[in-house]
Amino acid sequence: MIADWLLVPDVLRLAVWLHCVVVTPWMLMAAWLISRRPSAFVRECLAASVPVLIILQIDTGFALTVSEGAAHYQYVVMPTLLYTNVSLHRLVFRFAWSVTAIILVCHVVVVLSASYLSGPVATMILVQVGICAYITLVANFTMERDLRRAYLYSLRDRLRHAQADAAARRDTLTGLANRHHLDEELLKLWSAPKHGASFVSVVMLDVDNFKNLNDRYGHGAGDLCLKRIAATLIAELRGAGDHAIRYGGEEFLLLLPQLRLVDAVRIAERIRRAIEQAEIPNESSDQGGVVTASFGVAACNVTALSATELIAAADSALYVAKMRGRNQVWPPLAAAEERCASLLAEVGSGRQCSTALRQICAEVVNAR
Ligand code: GH3
Ligand code: MG
Ligand code: MG
Repeated sequence: MIADWLLVPDVLRLAVWLHCVVVTPWMLMAAWLISRRPSAFVRECLAASVPVLIILQIDTGFALTVSEGAAHYQYVVMPTLLYTNVSLHRLVFRFAWSVTAIILVCHVVVVLSASYLSGPVATMILVQVGICAYITLVANFTMERDLRRAYLYSLRDRLRHAQADAAARRDTLTGLANRHHLDEELLKLWSAPKHGASFVSVVMLDVDNFKNLNDRYGHGAGDLCLKRIAATLIAELRGAGDHAIRYGGEEFLLLLPQLRLVDAVRIAERIRRAIEQAEIPNESSDQGGVVTASFGVAACNVTALSATELIAAADSALYVAKMRGRNQVWPPLAAAEERCASLLAEVGSGRQCSTALRQICAEVVNAR
């Protein structure tokens, strides 16, 4: 308005009216609408409408005035171009060049139609405004390109980080999760027990006579056997909540949250049969010439045992399975139920029974 007052005093009233009644209220309205987070397209359209309206106001005054001071009106157009293309609130390039084109066309039309401007003055105005438009558009393009590149680089870094993180949790031979992943999952399960009744089952399995298989067929065949067993484990799991982990050389661990002991024993038995039925040859085994595995199962409420204690319990059960002749699950389904029933009776008769065992008993009885 200062520029209007100094350069085009004959249309000052109109300029003030347009400013106060049209442009400023619309600016406020656009700012309010943008604050309501519309889609990106609507947001840019709203933002683009502001410099377009400003330039229309400027050129309306420019077209109606007869004051020669209007020859200096490019000083008002240039800040509008700077605002559109290079300010903190600049438009994205697609919108920036559209608005710049509108500004140039409007201004060229009114400058060429202004009778009071001499040819050289009109030419200088248009050249100045054109150069300003070009420089600010190039700056807008460069800033946007650099921003997008920076975003893509950060995305690539995040992706590489995620890939490295995923690789650190995988066992390279079998593709199963490794101990690092297991530790994290255990931490999650034990740090956030849901409603104080979070059951976890663990199945520990160990390939029988695996050393003999290696000795007889070579390490390549041994590796292949481990891969096939890993594939069997994945196929038998229930879903995303279950985890199959390569625990050691030919030892695997299944972490089965929210699963009762009896169901875990059933799953273990199913996997045992699947491995046997795969008939991977191992002539040096005493288990019918095929690869077999032994299983130890344990379950508890996370408030009753620590993760280490639960895994130790499954390991002890696996030891029993090995001692009792391999290729079997310990505890077997019937024995597990029987054992727990008798333990329940002990609890009933007032004899000492650890919380953990009581929980296991309750689990089995509930599952009946
Ligand atoms: P058991 O029935 O008592 O479990 O006997 P086993 O022979 O399976 O157990 P042992 O602990 O004696 O031997 C395990 C073998 O597993 C020894 C080791 O060379 C082999 N092994 C460990 N990791 C790998 C591996 O990644 N690839 C291959 N091919 N062999 C492995
Ligand atoms: Mg072993
Ligand atoms: Mg073994």
